[in-house]
Amino acid sequence: MPARLALLDSRPALSDLDGTTLEHWAETNGQPRYRARQLYSALHRRYVQSLDEVTELPVALRSALVQDYRVRTLETRVHLRSSDRSEKVLFGLADGQTVETVLIRGRNAGGTRRNTVCVSSQVGCPAGCTFCATGLSGFGRNLTGSEIADQVIYFAHQLALEGDRVTNVVYMGMGEPLLNVGAVSASVERLTDAKGINLGRRSITISTVGIVPQLRRFSEWAGQTNLAVSLHAPNDELRSRLVPYNRHFPIADLIAAVRDYTDETRRRVSFEYVLLHGVNDSMEIGRGLVALLKPFGGYAHVNLIPWNPFRDGHFVRSEGPDADAFAGLLRAGGLRATIRYSRGLDISAACGQLRERRSG
Ligand code: SAH
Ligand code: SF4
Repeated sequence: MPARLALLDSRPALSDLDGTTLEHWAETNGQPRYRARQLYSALHRRYVQSLDEVTELPVALRSALVQDYRVRTLETRVHLRSSDRSEKVLFGLADGQTVETVLIRGRNAGGTRRNTVCVSSQVGCPAGCTFCATGLSGFGRNLTGSEIADQVIYFAHQLALEGDRVTNVVYMGMGEPLLNVGAVSASVERLTDAKGINLGRRSITISTVGIVPQLRRFSEWAGQTNLAVSLHAPNDELRSRLVPYNRHFPIADLIAAVRDYTDETRRRVSFEYVLLHGVNDSMEIGRGLVALLKPFGGYAHVNLIPWNPFRDGHFVRSEGPDADAFAGLLRAGGLRATIRYSRGLDISAACGQLRERRSG
């Protein structure tokens, strides 16, 4: 243990400091103010990961900075690359805990490139959903806004070197974003800052298991970001078995909150539905789902995700024909539904597999 503690880095991270704090730092160190602006721009517009990249600052100044500061809140521990070109990084945090982040490369309908970063919002997750590797691994702590934003910035830096960029962010990694609203909204502010990476809110999606009080205030703190709700079952008896939080926030309350949101914002909501064979993929349950979501009309989109297995996971994935039949039933019932086959299965980077594979 002492050896491990010795590795912990107690220096504050530059990426955590706002422009005013950087200017204050410059002043107290006898530097002109524009040095602070140069540093801010290198951090937030060029996504630098090391002070060696900030060549516009004199070497002596960089050496002084290194004494007092880390550059980012995250340190890369492991970087895995999948055969489908998705990537997963295990990041170490200042207190020695770890989180995982995934880059998924795809294409939009029009053929343009789509690079989605799937971020974690907590170390582990307190919700304990029974089909989710993160949920079964317990809860560590909430991430800070900078720890969340720096996950995106890491891949923004890498993609910039490839001549590409991050196009989308989804809060679908480890953790329940609505149990960490302060940091999640701070990270959204950071990611949409015109002086920084400047992503559009509409290219950001926040996925929640349905923490109703925070969901009711979603448009207040998340603005135009997209909402995804992890439903997984159309009745309380089944949903409570899969999603223990359903006992606190039953389906009727959850659906009422989402309905108020769609009525108020006229924005579409995605309902995530993990397909667990023999558990929630029968035709009868499908009909229950149609009845539950039909009142949303075109405002609901169901994302069916065949369950991704992990060690100690006690479910069976709904394979092609079952998933197709379930999707067909929803569509025949008037719902929009797509099956989302996960990427990155070979590196355990797919939905719900995070925390599964540890290397190094
Ligand atoms: N806590 C939030 C966001 C992280 S989970 C939420 O639950 O919405 C992101 C998505 O992955 C959720 O829809 C979740 O249900 C899904 N998921 C979790 N475990 C999975 C697994 N083993 N296979 C497929 N999807 C899974
Ligand atoms: Fe947490 Fe989401 Fe996993 Fe449930 S599915 S345990 S809410 S990360």
